[in-house]
Amino acid sequence: MESAYVIVGASLAGAKAAETLREEGFEGPVVLIGDEQERPYERPPLSKGYLMGKTAREKIYAHSAEWYQEHSIDLRLGTTVTAIDPAAHRVTLADGSSVGFSRLLLTTGASPRRLAVPGADRANVFYLRRVEDSDRIAAVLRPGARIAVVGAGWIGMETASAAREAGCEVTVLQSSELPLLRVLGREAARVFAELHRDHGVDLRFGVRVTGITERGVLLADGTVIEADAVIVGIGVVPNAQLAAAAGLATDDGVLTDQHLQSSHPDVFAAGDVVNAFHPLYNRPIRVEHWANALHQPRTAARSMLGEEAVHDRVPYFFTDQYELGMEYTGYVGPDGYDRVVFRGDVPGREFIAFWLSGNRVLAGMNVNIWDLTDPIRELVRSGRPVDPDALADRDTPLDRVGGPRRG
Ligand code: NAP
Repeated sequence: MESAYVIVGASLAGAKAAETLREEGFEGPVVLIGDEQERPYERPPLSKGYLMGKTAREKIYAHSAEWYQEHSIDLRLGTTVTAIDPAAHRVTLADGSSVGFSRLLLTTGASPRRLAVPGADRANVFYLRRVEDSDRIAAVLRPGARIAVVGAGWIGMETASAAREAGCEVTVLQSSELPLLRVLGREAARVFAELHRDHGVDLRFGVRVTGITERGVLLADGTVIEADAVIVGIGVVPNAQLAAAAGLATDDGVLTDQHLQSSHPDVFAAGDVVNAFHPLYNRPIRVEHWANALHQPRTAARSMLGEEAVHDRVPYFFTDQYELGMEYTGYVGPDGYDRVVFRGDVPGREFIAFWLSGNRVLAGMNVNIWDLTDPIRELVRSGRPVDPDALADRDTPLDRVGGPRRG
């Protein structure tokens, strides 16, 4: 067999890469290998519509089952890659067989960080990553069920919302003093705390979980949060072990350049697993969101084909919780931001928040107002200075809030 383009990770990212290879006219063999039994699917519904029974199973898949055949994609499900050998251009599978490649793409994603306390392996402790996790959690979200959620990140907040909508009693346990604090900062994180309080969630901040028993969750101060089920969402760890063992450069994921090419010229990476150099931020960033898994593989596939493709998209993600829908465009790096400017009705949850460094917009989040991603992205990408008063004024169009374009 002609040496294949092999994609390890049959996720949305893997499927999009296969799709792009065919769209770009690549006619050689494409092997898409995944350890799940399901064909590639999208994860956002797993903590939103699918979890709540509003989105049908058929809707979550990246492509129909026939699509893979029609496009001659050799989709190997339930197949685990145990090693990669970049020099020999081969990947080894769990059954001892191997597959040769001329180019390799790693879309191995990330795995939930595990709660390391006694009782964390009890049957009523759930993590949410895969569709069967969502099915298992959905089965316990019954009216009156007592649900403890550990971690007030995106999984924690979205599952808390789904659980309340299902009529559960929900307690959220978070180590820091607000939800989503690391991403949103104090000013905007408060909006989500109030949202959940208004919907009857018992939010406990600054707490430390020390164990899980048949009664529920034990906290360091001796409190017991009685619970029938515990959902843990305390972040993810990139699945970069294969890459590291193969001698590829890794640091919080697989390190790549802006073309998504790893330290080996024939190995590429995309999605949650990649810590890719981003030209806009002039350093590697790792983005754990759906839009990244959707767009990055297109660049990776084109790079695999030898095109001059660059991933320089401004990061984007969205959430839906109760009646609040929001989109976030931009990236606030570790240097953080100086101030947050709000435009609109914050108590009424119809507003835009802008994160600024000096007079430049790093990110914008539109809450219950739509069709703003393009102008917000333009503000972020251009880096042009803005007038914070104009930014706060809802009557000033977003393309009139600042000075001339840079460069
Ligand atoms: P996450 O968004 O990184 O949030 C993890 C949260 O858990 C943080 O608030 C963190 O607080 C807290 N935490 C960490 N250790 C803790 C502990 N021992 N006890 C209590 N709280 C603890 O991760 P996630 O919610 O698990 O989500 C997993 C992945 O799915 C992420 O990559 C996320 O981006 C993605 N996801 C995205 C969406 C979306 O885009 N709408 C929706 C669902 C999931 P500190 O930050 O203070 O440590």
